[in-house]
Amino acid sequence: MTVQDALQRPIRDLRISVTDRCNFRCVYCMPKHVFGPGHEFLPRSELLTYEEIARLARSFAAIGVGKFRLTGGEPLIRRDLVGLIGMLSGIEGVEDISLTTNGSMLTPDKARTLKQAGLRRITVSLDALDNQTFMMLNDVDYPVQKVLDALDNAEAAGLSPVKVNVVVKKGVNDHSIIPLVRYFHGSSHIVRFIEYMDVGHSNGWRLDDVVPAAEIAERINAELPIEPAEPNYRGEVAQRWRFVDGGGEVGIVSSVTQPFCRSCHRARLSARGELYTCLFAARGHDLRRLVRDTELSDDELTDRLSRIWSVRDDRYSEIRSENTLSLPKVEMSYIGG
Ligand code: SF4
Repeated sequence: MTVQDALQRPIRDLRISVTDRCNFRCVYCMPKHVFGPGHEFLPRSELLTYEEIARLARSFAAIGVGKFRLTGGEPLIRRDLVGLIGMLSGIEGVEDISLTTNGSMLTPDKARTLKQAGLRRITVSLDALDNQTFMMLNDVDYPVQKVLDALDNAEAAGLSPVKVNVVVKKGVNDHSIIPLVRYFHGSSHIVRFIEYMDVGHSNGWRLDDVVPAAEIAERINAELPIEPAEPNYRGEVAQRWRFVDGGGEVGIVSSVTQPFCRSCHRARLSARGELYTCLFAARGHDLRRLVRDTELSDDELTDRLSRIWSVRDDRYSEIRSENTLSLPKVEMSYIGG
C-alpha cells in the first residue's frame, strides 16, 4: 500500500539524517559564523539509535517508501554506519539505499564495506575543481584531489555511477561549471548542478546569487552540446541532459526557478527523529517520542506515519517569495538537504 498526500503525491523516498555533525563548514550550509567552535551539536542520547531508525524505516516501507538515502551533516562521521545499512537492506520492499557524503572519510576500505552491507549508490559533493574556490567553499581547506580520490574509491567498490553534487552560487563558483563538465565528460560519473537554495537561515540566501537552471544548461550547451533526456522515474529531482556526442549526462536541480513540488515524494527524518515533509518546513513531527516513549505497536506506528503523510500539502518552492524568506525553516545540516 502506498499512501498519497493531500496533493496525490505518493511517499517514495525517505532521506535519513544520521547526524547533525560535519567536518566541513560549507558556506551555503554550515557557515562558521553560525556553526563555530561553540556550536552545540546533538548529544548522542538525543540521536535516534540504529534500531529506532530501522523500526521507523520498516513502517515507512509499509506505507510505500522504497528508497532510503542516508545523509547528515556528514553521515560517515557516525560510527558503524555499515550496521545501519545492513538493517535497512533487510527490510521488505526496499529497492535502493544510497548515501550523500563529502567524501572526506570514503577510504577504499570504507567504500568496499558500505557496498558489501547493501549500499547501492553514492553521491559525493564537489563544488569546484580548483583548490582556491573549493577550499573557500568548504572553509576547512579540504583539497579537491582528496575528493577525486574518494570518487575513485567509490567506483572501485562498484558504487557507480557516482553522482557529483555541485551547489552553484553566482560569482562564487559558477566559473567552475564548465571545468567540472569537461572533467567528468566521458566518465561514468554524473555531475548534478544544484540551484542555490534558501534552506534554513544560516547562509544569507539572496535570489541574486542564484544561477537559473536554464542558464546553466545554456552555458554547458555552448561548450558541449546537450539534449534533454527522459527522467529515470516520475519525481526525479534533477533534470537529465545527455551529451549529444555520447559522452554521458549531466543533471540540473532547479528548485528555485522551476519548482518540482507537484511530483515531490520525499520525506526527511532528522537525526533527532523529527519527520519533515518538506525541505523548507519550519517544524517536524516528533517520531522519536513515538518509538522511545510510547508502547505503540508497529501497526499503530505505521498508521501514525500514514496519517501524517496523508494530510501533507507542502509546496514551498511554488510559493517562495519575499514574504516566505523570513518564515522559520529547518537548517540544511539538520536534515541533510
Ligand atoms: S519545496 Fe518541499 S514540497 Fe517542494 S520539492 Fe522541495 S521538499 Fe518537495
